[in-house]
Amino acid sequence: MNINKNYAKLKENYLFSEISQRVKTYSEKYPDREILKMGIGDVTLPLAPTVIEAMRSAVEEMGDADTFRGYGPEQGYPFLRESICEYYRSFGVSLDADEIFVSDGAKSDLGNILDLFDQNNTVLIPDPVYPVYADTNIMAGRKIIYLSANESNGFLPMPEEKMRADIIYICSPNNPTGAAYSTEQLKEWVHYAQKQGAVILYDAAYESFVGEQGIARSIYQIEEAKECAIEFCSFSKTAGFTGTRCGYTVVPFALKRCGVSLRSMWLRRQTTKFNGVSFIVQRGAAAAFSEKGRKQISENLSVYRDNAQIICNALRKLGIWYTGGENSPYVWLKCPMFSDSFMFFDYLLEKSGIVGTPGSGFGKNGEGFFRLTAFADKNTVQRAMEKFTKIFV
Ligand code: PLP
Repeated sequence: MNINKNYAKLKENYLFSEISQRVKTYSEKYPDREILKMGIGDVTLPLAPTVIEAMRSAVEEMGDADTFRGYGPEQGYPFLRESICEYYRSFGVSLDADEIFVSDGAKSDLGNILDLFDQNNTVLIPDPVYPVYADTNIMAGRKIIYLSANESNGFLPMPEEKMRADIIYICSPNNPTGAAYSTEQLKEWVHYAQKQGAVILYDAAYESFVGEQGIARSIYQIEEAKECAIEFCSFSKTAGFTGTRCGYTVVPFALKRCGVSLRSMWLRRQTTKFNGVSFIVQRGAAAAFSEKGRKQISENLSVYRDNAQIICNALRKLGIWYTGGENSPYVWLKCPMFSDSFMFFDYLLEKSGIVGTPGSGFGKNGEGFFRLTAFADKNTVQRAMEKFTKIFV
């Protein structure tokens, strides 16, 4: 018997435990001081009333012999896949409901999709990055090439002809940097992937924060992308489903490699290893995309967007370099006075009680940078940025 030795190559992820430890020490030292939490990537507003109503009535259906449902379709109920198609149509993307696979969230699918690819493929991952992309490939023993995202490219690296890659990760709007590609920039990525015969794994978990013309909501806004990209999306940040769990993955019919349809492979994988998402949750997710639901979730998104603006305005006035915030709940700033993200974290906490996330926790290029999130309530964000301004003015 042997174990998967690749697990030994994983770096322990100390980031959030280290942050909690430092916050704990701070609150023990200053029990009366307020802590302003702007570090987490989790939503804080409750589910929309329409979603709750739909889930309640689904529970009732499950309690009645005439409407009870057992196993559902592995791909997701057609009512939800149809609403997802309609949602995509609202920003000009036409999909077939059979290209959509409902899941319990983007994170699982981002990991599971790797079942489709050979271990010898080379993977291209930007740095800094959402750690799941790298860790899942390290577990599988794949070779990873890191692509430098930095201040000079606005944390939006572009393809370089000389780079060889089989699997390319793109996250836009990005976690942790908040930077978002324009459709024009994505065209270059699609062109590069097509030339390389590579597959793009496009993480659109934050697409609902895009408010600016010309910034991509979906990679399928570039027509040719259906031949080279898989898109992952989630109700987590769009509709506050982080604890409810629902997402979806789009694998277009046109996507083929080595003469094989990746959609057929994914369908085979899902029907073998996955038994679908709870009917109740799928009813709630579909309600989020109803007319009433969309209005309600957009009210929640506006709260987070306004918070991001408060953060950006304060940084702009202070002349601190930042990206994100416009089309994202994340603002990524260059640490003032410090080149070490954790030293900046300690200084900020000590001086103001603000908790953010040190950029170095997301990769080597994150060193010297810091992530603030807009997922707190407006009062917290306002007070935090007033305190921040007093320190760095
Ligand atoms: N992708 C990115 C970039 C994320 O930041 C997150 C969560 O923070 C996810 C995916 C996970 O989403 P889900 O809650 O749908 O698993």
